[in-house]
Formats: sequence, structure tokens, C-alpha cells
Amino acid sequence: MATAKPAKSTKNARYIYHFGGGKSDGDASMKALLGGKGANLGEMARRGFNVPPGFTITTEVCTYYYANKRTYPKGLFEKDAVDAIRKLEKAQGKGFGDRRNPLLVSVRSGARDSMPGMMDTILNLGLNDETVEGLKAKTKNGRFAYDSYRRFVQMYGDVVMGVQKRHENEHEPFDEVLDAVKEEAGVHEDTDLSEDNLKEVIKRFRALIKERTGKAFPNDPYDQLRGAVGAVFGSWMNDRAVIYRDKYRIPHEWGTAVNVQAMVFGNMGDTSGTGVAFTRNPANGANEFYGEYLANAQGEDVVAGVRTPLKIQDMAKDAIFGDIYKQLLKVRAKLEKEFGDVQDFEFTIEEQTLYMLQTRHGKRTAQAYVKIAHDMVREKLMTPEHAVKSGDPQALDQLLAPIFDSTDEKAAEKDSYLTIGLPAGPGAASGIVAFTAAKAEQIAASGQKAVLCRIETSPEDLKGMIASEGILTSRGGVSSHAALVARQMGKVCVAGAGDLAIDYAKGTLTSNGRTLREGDFIAINGTTGKVYGRKVKTSDSELKQVLVAKTMKPQDSELFRAYDFVMKLADKYRTLGVRTNADQPDQAENAIAFGAEGIGLCRTEHMFFEGDRIDSVREMILFAEDYAKFKSDSADAKGDDAKLASLKGTHADAIEHFTGALEKLLPMQQKDFEGLFTAMAGRPVTIRLLDPPLHEFLPQSKDQKDDLAKKLGVSYERVEALGHSLHEFNPMLGHRGCRLGIVYPEITEMQCRAIFRAALAVAKKTGKKVVPEVMIPLVGYDIELNQQLEIVHRVAKEEQDRAKTKLGYLVGTMIEIPRAAVTADEIAKEAQFFSFGTNDLTQTTLGMSRDDSGKFLPHYQKVGIVKANPFATIDTRGVGKLMKMAIEGGKATRPDIKLGICGEHGGDPTTIEFCHQIGLSYVSCSPFRVPVARLAAAQAALRAQSAANKAAKPAAAKAKAAKPAKKLRAAAAR
Ligand code: PEP
Ligand code: MG
Repeated sequence: MATAKPAKSTKNARYIYHFGGGKSDGDASMKALLGGKGANLGEMARRGFNVPPGFTITTEVCTYYYANKRTYPKGLFEKDAVDAIRKLEKAQGKGFGDRRNPLLVSVRSGARDSMPGMMDTILNLGLNDETVEGLKAKTKNGRFAYDSYRRFVQMYGDVVMGVQKRHENEHEPFDEVLDAVKEEAGVHEDTDLSEDNLKEVIKRFRALIKERTGKAFPNDPYDQLRGAVGAVFGSWMNDRAVIYRDKYRIPHEWGTAVNVQAMVFGNMGDTSGTGVAFTRNPANGANEFYGEYLANAQGEDVVAGVRTPLKIQDMAKDAIFGDIYKQLLKVRAKLEKEFGDVQDFEFTIEEQTLYMLQTRHGKRTAQAYVKIAHDMVREKLMTPEHAVKSGDPQALDQLLAPIFDSTDEKAAEKDSYLTIGLPAGPGAASGIVAFTAAKAEQIAASGQKAVLCRIETSPEDLKGMIASEGILTSRGGVSSHAALVARQMGKVCVAGAGDLAIDYAKGTLTSNGRTLREGDFIAINGTTGKVYGRKVKTSDSELKQVLVAKTMKPQDSELFRAYDFVMKLADKYRTLGVRTNADQPDQAENAIAFGAEGIGLCRTEHMFFEGDRIDSVREMILFAEDYAKFKSDSADAKGDDAKLASLKGTHADAIEHFTGALEKLLPMQQKDFEGLFTAMAGRPVTIRLLDPPLHEFLPQSKDQKDDLAKKLGVSYERVEALGHSLHEFNPMLGHRGCRLGIVYPEITEMQCRAIFRAALAVAKKTGKKVVPEVMIPLVGYDIELNQQLEIVHRVAKEEQDRAKTKLGYLVGTMIEIPRAAVTADEIAKEAQFFSFGTNDLTQTTLGMSRDDSGKFLPHYQKVGIVKANPFATIDTRGVGKLMKMAIEGGKATRPDIKLGICGEHGGDPTTIEFCHQIGLSYVSCSPFRVPVARLAAAQAALRAQSAANKAAKPAAAKAKAAKPAKKLRAAAAR
């Protein structure tokens, strides 16, 4: 918020939007201004759903509030809010503060993207000692009226006036008062408290507020409203909301809207109730009505997980609610039709009348996402564009997460079965029992896996939930906080395992005659809901079984079919190519199975460690310096035959070993490349020449050094001395990248020969075109590139002549140090492509070591210096600016220059969007991130299109309507 420009209140600014009675000022497209809840309430109202009337105070007021020292635009409470309340009074035929017929309202937050449970809500606002009597008279239910009043004072005292527990071990102060009165009255349940008991509770609540805050509880409904609205705006910046936004990359600048809505009561007796439901199963995507309800309860009771609610289907058989269920089925169908996606909605039944309190696109697991997208597109309920847009690319990782090994799970079922709960977040999690969020964080920080086991979770547990592998609760349903948040985070979750007795004080968890303590292992199956009192082995996900292990046929996996459908849909929209970083044929094959269109980076040095070739690599290194000296001295002695002969004699050893080692490596590297070219079957393959400093390949331990000395017939001391001479203080900025190939051109030559021989051999063998792309690393000067390319072109010619065959190939460079970006126009004279090595480009631009930055970056993120880890998400304003500069320079010299990215950022959705915007041809990422990149690239294209459509005139916008971009993309990837 600190960065938000001070918003000014202008004369014509509109801060309040109404909804209700079949009409509304806003609609679903106005989420930025009205928040998700407000926009959808407007949409529902205008589409004929039965929505209690109300109004939304816009997010602009929130922005203003923070930009102006927590004050409101002029006239907001003096006029606009008063007018809005008047309108509401008229609609409801009630008066705000009317002692005979009081209008009561709820005050709720509503951000642009929903943030379940993170911000504050106040219900029953408008009650005071007088209006409560009016409510009593109207409803002829004193107990109900005073219970509503009790809840209001409690919520308001907590949220607005800040009466909360002051330290970890203190009880909730209002609960303490309530418990005391219950004890004095000799009752156990809140519902057993009489009207008089409740009056006593309220009296004590008010006294508690006065004692703690020095202020009286406000009686005037407008004062109450002002306080509640302030509290909701204030809660935008509470710790848990900030953590949540950081996790989901929701900008802090957005602010929340506030919705003020006429109260309807689900707690008016047995013919009333409240519930939440999803139009389809958000855990696995099944087309089934999914939700729960509680009779005689008020809104938050279901979500808070305090009482375990009944399944929504049970309503069908209920004598009182049977008819409501039929109405709900109609609502379910209408919601999907009108909103074009799965809806997560809240409803209240007040004396047999059904009201809709909110609806939003349901948060879903990755598994549910692909299933729902597949089904709803086919059912013509969802547009293909929305199917692509509505998924979280990052969450696709969930589809690759392991499941329990079926044999071990069967054994666990016999020897360690604990209980079964509601399967609320699919997948398998084994870990150490943690009873508190703090403990879970501690376990995770020590590098172990934690399963957070709680009676129920609350928004305070968010950090611990993030740190855990899985979440298990003994209370609460599939819409409880734990289930909701777990599902969104893609955490494995079993909720409401009622047989589980969790005793925080004793630190135990008991079920089925077994007791676990903190520190013991537990395993939860979020797909079936089963819980085991030990570790259970895991095995590959279904998707991996189909695509990687190939132990399952595609037609046997419903999940695969849905996934494949969504991926193909995404491919129609993206224009960015997606390649992979792979060095071995099996990696390449996996990547192709995930949809990679080429290799964007093959790190050839990874091949140096394969099999026993490391010995030859070490032999080469051991004699490299000596050989280089021989060459340099020979150059100086040019023309002096005697000197030259003597030099040959002195360095005979080095000549023999260095060139001998390269000769041994050549066929090995050739074989590697043949494997890669064969696996890629004609797709482009970018091969980067040797990059890391030579000392990285040397043996470390005494035994290894001893072994090497023996193998090469040199002394141990010589090996040891080499280690010292190659030592660098900062190897990342040392003798690496093209600097190696420049000092030791024979290495470049050997690698190039291997590449071209392999390409020619595979082309001959398969009859397919093979187009290698040779990439020079760590170039800063165009001369570096040119010198290396002289070798590449010479060797390419020699090998083509040798094979008497022509071969197409490209040469290019990585752009990974700022000088290369800045002088890209010069570099592009010889480079046919640029690939942004953003790992090094970030390191060198920020002057932050990629290996050491972990020490301070978390702190930097915490104090807001960086929003995201710059080694994961591109720093667009710094590194990104250099990228743009490089593109501009490169294109100025070579308009058709091919542009890619192969740093780790290439698999990050936010970076992918940036890459789309700056016009790269492709992104390259690790094989398992290829699906993430495909979806992210499609979303980037769709977002860019809608931004362009918005900017263009309506007629032009129509012409630019989303259309498949397969051809464009294919061209770009090549
Ligand atoms: C890079 O620097 O981004 C890159 C891909 O190269 P490496 O990570 O191998 O240094
Ligand atoms: Mg690099």
C-alpha cells in the first residue's frame, strides 16, 4: 500500500453501488472496483437469484483509506452511506436503528480475488439494547434476538474494538465470559442458554470491552457501521491477509471492497439454516453437487468448522428442507450456466425461504481443474478460453505429485489404520505429526516433512499450513477452512475425521486404539480420506504412470484424458514455443511426452560425468595448462625450428595426454548427442558448449585424488597442485563459459566435431532433418563469440565435407552478462539466436551470487525490498529491462533473430507472461515444468489479447477475438 498513489476524492467519484430486487448497479465484470463478492452479488441480483439487497463500498475507498492516513473520502459516511442505508430501509420496509422494526446488516470484505477467511466480517449490525427488543417483538423469539445480539457484540468487540487474547496461552476473552455464564447456568451448549442468560452474557461482554478498551460499545447503528467498515478495510493489511497475498501474488495495492447487506437469518429456528456448496466436486472435479448445511445456524458456523455439518444431499430426504433442496438443484444448474464455471456459493434459508449470499468461481485442485475444464467445455457450459484461463499453471505440479504405493498402503491398512475422514485435498502425504502451526513450520525448517494435525484450523494457521505436507482435522466438513485452504494450496488434506481424538494439552492423537504423539509419523490419503499411524511409501502419480513410466495406458486414465484435453486447448492459444532443458535422451523423451517442442538448453558438461568418461575429462584438465603453455611458447618461437622441437620434447607428456583425452572424449560426446538427436526426432536441439570452470570436475577427496594419480601415472602431488592452481575465489565470475573455449580452443573443437558428426549420423540413419543449434555461453564481447564461431563454422564445414552431406545448423549465444545485453547489436552480427541465461544474467545484474543469496533474500522479501525471489521470477524492472534492450539491439542488426530463455525463470508463470510480452520465440524449462509452461504461455497470450481488445475500439476488438494460434506458435518454436 505504501506505493499506492494518494487517491483523491473527486466530486463525481462514485463510491457506492447497490444490488437487490432484481436490479444492480454493478455486474460480474466489475471485480476490480466492487471486489469479487460485490460484483457477483450484483450479477446474481440482475439474473434473478434471490439475493438480500445491499450495497458495495468500492475498492477505491480502500485505496483512498490507505493513501490518506486511514481516512475516508469526504461525504462517504455523512451522505453516501446514509443515502444507501435509506434505500435499503425502503427496500426492506425496516429502519436502521428502528426500535420496533430494525434493519440489520452484515458487513463483509470482498477483494478482487477471493481470500477465504483472511479478512473480517461483522454480522447482525444495527443491534443495540433497544433494537434487540424490536427484533424480539418482530420474531416473537427473545432467545433468537438476544443470541444475535450476543454474537454481534462478540464479533464487533473482537474485530472492531480489538478485544482479543493478549498472548498465546490466554483463552479467547469472550469465550471465557460465555463459558463462565454457561457454567453458572449449569448448561453445556450455547444453544441451551436462556434469554436471560444471554442478557447476562451481553452485559458482561460490554463490561469487558469497556475494561479493555476504555471505550463503550457503540449504540448508534451509524457509528457501528463506520467502525465495521473501518475494521474490514483495516483487515486488508492484517498479517494473515498479507501472507496470503504474498503466497498467491495478489497485489497489495488492490484493496478490498466492503459489502453491506440486509441480514437474513439461518438461525431463526428449525425451518432456517445455512450452507455452502460447490456446483461440482472441487477436490476431484466430479459432476456432483457438493456441499453441506446446518439447520438453525448462522453463516460462519459452517465455514468455521465448529459444528460438523450435514451433506447437502441429505437435504433431499429432509422433511423440512426437501423443497429447498429442489430449489438448490435449480440454483446449481443456473449458476453454472450464467457464470460459465463451477461456483462455490453460500446460501441461507430463513424460515423456508432460500437466499443467495454469495457466489464465486470455486477454488479447485489441479485434478479437479482439468476434469471440470474438460467436462464443462464439452457440456458447452464453459468457453474454451475460460477453461484455459481458469487454471493455476503452477498447480499442475500437483498432478505429478506421488500417490501412496498400493502395496504398502494395503499393509498400513492392516497394521496402522487410524481412521477415515473427508477426502478434501487429493494426494498422499507422510510426515511428522505437528499439533500447532508453529511446530509444523519448525519441522519443515529442519528439512523434514510435517503433517499438521488440528481439531480445526483457522486463518492464523496459514503459515503452518503452507509449511506442511498435508493437513488433517478432526472437525469440520469439506467446506471448512482447512479443506478450503488446503485445496487451494494443493495440499493433501483429510478433514473432519471425527473418530480422531486430538488432545493438545497432552500432545496426543488417538484413534482405533492407537495413540500418536508429536514427532511420530502419520500418513494421510487425501484422495480416499484414510489415515495411517506410520510412514507409507509413495509411488508415481497416474499422469507419470501414463507419460513417463508408461505403465498405464492413456485410455485407462480419466485424469490423463482430461489433462491432455486442457493441454491441447492451451496449445491452441499460446504463441510462445515451449522447449525443455535436457541433457540426456530419457529426459528429452519425458519432456516430449509432456509436450516439449525442442531442447532449449543441453548443458554438455553434465555429460562429462557419465560413466567412466570423467577419467578422460580429468586427464584433459590435468594437462590442459601445460598444453596451453606449449602452444603459447610455440607461437612465440615461430620460425625457430630448434626451439620448437625442444618445446615439443619438454611438453611431450602434455601433448600426448591432452590431445589423447580429447580423442577419447570425442566419440563419447558424439554418442551422447546422437542419443539426444534421436530422442528429439527432428525437433530443434540447442547445445551449449562447456560452461563451468574446470576445477568442478576434479576429484575432491584424498582417495579420489590418489586414484586419479594412479590411473594417469602421475604423482599425487601433481594432482593436488593442479587443484590449487585451478582454485578460484569466485568461480562464478572466473574462468568459465566461452573463456574456457578461448583459452582451450581444442575443447570447443572436440565438442563441435561431436555435435556435427552426431547430427550427420542421425540424419543419415533416420532420414529426418537434424538441425543443431550451437550455443556459446557467457559471451560479453562480440570478439569472444566471433573467435568461437570461427571454430564452429570451420568444424561444421570439415565434417560436412567429410560426410559429403550438407547440414543445416544455427549458431548463437547466451545473453547472460549485462555487457552482452548492452552490446547485443554487435553480438547479433554473428549470432543467429539469443537465449537468455537468466540465472547468470540475474546474478550479474544484481551482483548477487545465485548460490549465496539464500542467506539474505528471504529477509529482503520480508521487508519488501523484493516482491519475489529474483532467481525464480524475473526482476522485470532490472534484468527484464536488459532483456528488452538486448532484444532491441539484436533485432536492429538481425530482424529475424530467434529469441529464447533457458534460465530457471523459463518455467515460472509470471516470467513466462513477461517473455510473451517482450516477444520471445520460446521458453525452455525442466521437463516436468513443460505442462506448467504450456498453460502459462496460453494464459499470457489470452491476457494479452484481452488487453489489446480492451484498448482497441469495439469494432476492432471484435476482429481480434481470440483465435487459435497454433501456426504462429509452431513457426516461433522452430
Ligand atoms: C543461466 O545462466 O541462466 C543458464 C541457463 O546457465 P547455467 O544455469 O548453466 O549457468
Ligand atoms: Mg549461465
